[in-house]
Amino acid sequence: MNKVIILNNRPQGKPALNNFKFISEELPVTKDGAVLLKTVYVSVDPYLRGRMNDTKSYVPPFELNKPIQSGIIAEVIESKQADFKKGDFVSGSLEWKEYQTSNGKGLQKVNQNEAKLSSYLGILGMTGLTAYLGLTEIGLPKKGETIVVSGAGGAVGTVVGQIGKLLGCKVVGVTGSDEKVDLLTSKFNFDHAINYKTTPDLKEAVKSACPKGVDIYFDNVGGEISDAVLANINKYARLPVCGAISLYNKTEVPVGPRLQPIILTKSATMRGFIIGDLSGKFPAATKQLTAWMKADKLKFSETIVEGFDNIPQAFIDLFDGKNKGKMIVKV
Ligand code: NDP
Repeated sequence: MNKVIILNNRPQGKPALNNFKFISEELPVTKDGAVLLKTVYVSVDPYLRGRMNDTKSYVPPFELNKPIQSGIIAEVIESKQADFKKGDFVSGSLEWKEYQTSNGKGLQKVNQNEAKLSSYLGILGMTGLTAYLGLTEIGLPKKGETIVVSGAGGAVGTVVGQIGKLLGCKVVGVTGSDEKVDLLTSKFNFDHAINYKTTPDLKEAVKSACPKGVDIYFDNVGGEISDAVLANINKYARLPVCGAISLYNKTEVPVGPRLQPIILTKSATMRGFIIGDLSGKFPAATKQLTAWMKADKLKFSETIVEGFDNIPQAFIDLFDGKNKGKMIVKV
């Protein structure tokens, strides 16, 4: 039998295990033109939280009683399709199933001799592309500028900070534990990191870490952390809005300071982006990320959770900051 994880009900606030349900179904039969895939690595990502709501967004919501989907690395174990052969590894947006068939649409072959398979869900996948293109296309960094990154100890954040350093900037990270603060400054080359959970005055802490002010704020979290950083931006600051995880579980929209006077008086640019909209730039970005990785200039950190049954908990743990770098489940 084949294990499958479906959406049982929609979360109110923080997701919980009972929002998910495990069912079993017959193993799928591979029809002509299809491949049979065995799930190897599953990416769990904050944006999946938005898909659990029944609201219109840039991707359709998950349907009740239907399988959840995310980025997955799978092995082709049977092929009735010319483009793939048994033993190939592929990446794609697939269902939370141990085994599934696919007509090959949207699947990309990945090469385990080039890079670790899991890295195609991280640094060589959506994470790396988001960090690189968000920073370079929207942040427009110039040598000597100061970048602040929130969600700095996570998948995107750790990569943004390192790229900022490679481009000659000063980088300050905001993260949720002392262990991650140490990791950012020791392993990931950040100049400074702030623990937002223990720092009483975040606005002052950002000011003292950035004596020349903030030129780029790469925002992964929104909310009060962003309010504190925005109070310290320089004239012509650029603010790529990548994520707003601090708000994803809110049932009411919290009211914060009005941003317009800051954006206006600092002639700042605040711009949101959805990484899929920049797909035309993926090949060049992947080439650059691969080159940096091969030259050991970009380090990548993963929290690997073992076992198909632990996929929902690994996803929930993102909202408690249990991951360092990319959260991935190995099946
Ligand atoms: P992460 O690996 O950063 O995991 C989430 C992290 O967010 C946690 O580890 C936790 O770290 C932090 N966090 C959780 N709750 C809060 C909170 N209430 N306030 C502040 N921090 C919190 O995830 P990703 O790197 O994959 O994604 C980072 C952000 O980028 C997300 O918001 C995501 O939605 C967004 N994103 C956007 C994309 C786009 O196309 N625009 C593409 C990919 C991601 P801590 O210990 O610091 O609390």
